Amino acid sequence: MSALAADDLGMVKALGRFGIRLLWHPSLSEESGREAIAILDDVVAGRIALDCLCVEGSVLDGPDGTGRFQMLSGTGRAMKDWVAALAVKARHVVAIGSCATFGGLPAGGGNPTGARGLQYAGWDMGGALGKDFRSGSGLPVINISGCAPHPGWVVETLAALSLGDFGPERLDALGRPRAIADHLAHHGCSRNEFYEFKASAVRPSDRGCLMENLGCRATQAPGDCNMRRWNGFGSCTDAGYTCINCTSPGFESPPGPFQETAKVAGIPIGLPLDMPKAWFVALAALSKSATPQRVRTNAHADHVLIPPARRPTKTP
Ligand code: SF4
Repeated sequence: MSALAADDLGMVKALGRFGIRLLWHPSLSEESGREAIAILDDVVAGRIALDCLCVEGSVLDGPDGTGRFQMLSGTGRAMKDWVAALAVKARHVVAIGSCATFGGLPAGGGNPTGARGLQYAGWDMGGALGKDFRSGSGLPVINISGCAPHPGWVVETLAALSLGDFGPERLDALGRPRAIADHLAHHGCSRNEFYEFKASAVRPSDRGCLMENLGCRATQAPGDCNMRRWNGFGSCTDAGYTCINCTSPGFESPPGPFQETAKVAGIPIGLPLDMPKAWFVALAALSKSATPQRVRTNAHADHVLIPPARRPTKTP
């Protein structure tokens, strides 16, 4: 549903600009029931060439490794078997969303259904297709994680694949496209000034940074969601909802409530990547001591109470 809003054109037309034809999609295609199964049969039998298999949703392995918790209706066959049969026919295999990439929400808690991603189960390469799987192109599963992933991530990745412009160097260690995963969700957040001064929100409606109290993990979350906004504007943190690092394995099982920052001795457990803890603590103390009154006050309000000072710019 997220991907449908891709571009101004919508996903199907956006893909069409790159000559990509949607062979079948369970929600978008007219074919259903027997007609849909006939398409899948044709691919498995090699009568239809499959350039790209895109899978949404985790693949269930239970009960007892049979996959019978998740059958493809009308076929008597488990989804995990369908996915395996289709994947070996595909030039590329793309997992779309954190469920298909790493297991996602269904894999949370005790994971009673044996939910896992295509190539990964959480951080381990124990997914439904196995760690050694390579598609016809020689690439591993391409993981467009996110719950939901940004529509642009889907369209741009499929476009790059269709143009033959995608090699293994374009993937990070977890199979995510680096064009997306080399950024952090923190980059470009409208609350960055509050972050700099550690002027923190205490309620979701506050304008301050959500990291210290409200669980924001954007400094650890791969993705450019705050650099390219959703539907042309807005993001989770813009809307007052904390970043839950949904692009990373295991996000579904945080150490506490999503909107609370887990701390030890008053220091958040999840500190920014690439930053030693001692530096963070020292910098946070320094920043707080230097917080301008405007930033401190506005951090605890739902609208700007003190505007920036107005003074003429001095010229030398
Ligand atoms: S709210 Fe989150 S994304 Fe925004 S500045 Fe704070 S830590 Fe970064």
